[in-house]
Amino acid sequence: MSNKNKTEVIVVGAGPAGVSAAITLARSGKEVLLVERGDFAGDKNVFGGTIYTEQTAEIFPEFWKTAPIERAVSSQKIFMLTDNSSVQFEYKYEGEANAYTVYRSKWDKWCVLQAQKEGAFFAPKTLVKELILDNGKVVGIDTGMEKFYSDIVIIADGVNSLLAKQLGLRNKIKDKDVSLSVKEVIKLPKEKIEDRFLINENTGAGCKILGGPLKDMMALGFMYTNKDTISLGFSAGIDDLKKHKIIPYELLEQLKNHPSILPYIKNGVTVEYSSHLIPEGGFNSIPKIYDNRVMIAGDAAMLVNNVHFEGTNLAMLSGRLAAETAIDALNRQDFSASVLSDYYKKLQNSIVMKDLETHKNTIDVLRKNIHALTSLYPEFACEFFDILTSADSIPKKVKYNNFMKKFIKHKGISSSFPLLVYVLEKCIKK
Ligand SMILES: Cc1cc2nc3c(=O)[nH]c(=O)nc-3n(C[C@H](O)[C@H](O)[C@H](O)COP(=O)(O)OP(=O)(O)OC[C@H]3O[C@@H](n4cnc5c(N)ncnc54)[C@H](O)[C@@H]3O)c2cc1C
Repeated sequence: MSNKNKTEVIVVGAGPAGVSAAITLARSGKEVLLVERGDFAGDKNVFGGTIYTEQTAEIFPEFWKTAPIERAVSSQKIFMLTDNSSVQFEYKYEGEANAYTVYRSKWDKWCVLQAQKEGAFFAPKTLVKELILDNGKVVGIDTGMEKFYSDIVIIADGVNSLLAKQLGLRNKIKDKDVSLSVKEVIKLPKEKIEDRFLINENTGAGCKILGGPLKDMMALGFMYTNKDTISLGFSAGIDDLKKHKIIPYELLEQLKNHPSILPYIKNGVTVEYSSHLIPEGGFNSIPKIYDNRVMIAGDAAMLVNNVHFEGTNLAMLSGRLAAETAIDALNRQDFSASVLSDYYKKLQNSIVMKDLETHKNTIDVLRKNIHALTSLYPEFACEFFDILTSADSIPKKVKYNNFMKKFIKHKGISSSFPLLVYVLEKCIKK
């Protein structure tokens, strides 16, 4: 850095958004200071989870050869639970993995090391208390002990983003726009994990869990295989947790003890318990993400596609696009909001805004149909398989007719599948 306390760009937060911004700037020869409150990058980060190959490789080419990844995901499973039974769908594939499981504590550390190798300056154990403003414009950061100045600040401080709030670019997050996630990391011998999930040492599984203890809430369970641990947890809307007066760790215990989940984790030892918020508001909750001398990336900008369980990829892409905009602004020596508005345009032309806009109403639709999705469909699916596979003295015609009548009766089903209901009604009449 030319002047001790002045650099070209300061990036706050060394998660996927911040590190992508920092490495992009460093690669183009710009001065960049990446600050992180944790003792090391990843220290404070909680995650399911998988990183996605394409956006990750755009920043870290062929990362899978050297990065601390756990497993290449080759199987995606969906569990539809009732209180004591389940129907499970599995999608298995071969070839290039689309996603990898990682531990954020190892992964984030490795990412920051790559940024440092490219020339970024990393300052861990540095909590930014507030932004320094001059005539309402951001000119640096204040840690309470020291002040650092820059031409541009990229805010990548995650879901709570106190810094975006300080600028008035974000309000207090609404309960309906955020979910709480709790997770355990459960240790088991590697071979047991591979046997239980039908994977081998080179492959891994990702599972999503609907219903059962999570029924009637905007909630989703997850299970991911690491080398010798399983990450098991759920995320649930804060408003639902409040409404149902649920204690998250009790709900996690119920999920762990569900008869369809327990066999995967049986005799495992919990080695980590953590919780974190996830932005859930999607497109409609995205704040203004640029102003004079400042841009916001990743979770801080609410860029999470929760319909497809994507957060890290959007964080990395937004961090990179913010950095590319900063590089252009530095080359022009113009850090005004009008130049930095290019960041928003870049995001609009990328899958970040395209995908979030596609799903701008999906969460509301899911919310309205949450009982059908998490209670009725799992029950019907289980009942259907039961009829299909159980041999007893009740005639099949009676079973099918009873099932169809029950199926049609439910408002959630008839409004979601009018054509199916029409066909079933015709069958029953015959
Ligand atoms: C349980 C769970 C499971 C998930 N599963 C997946 C998944 O499978 N796939 C996926 O793609 N996404 C997943 N996500 C979402 C994903 O983790 C986030 O979208 C992603 O981490 C966002 O990256 P980020 O860099 O914007 O923020 P973060 O990863 O939150 O990083 C922000 C960083 O800023 C630092 N920081 C905060 N405030 C300050 C400050 N004032 N000063 C200095 N540093 C500060 C923090 O310590 C942190 O390191 C999951 C999230 C959770 C909680």
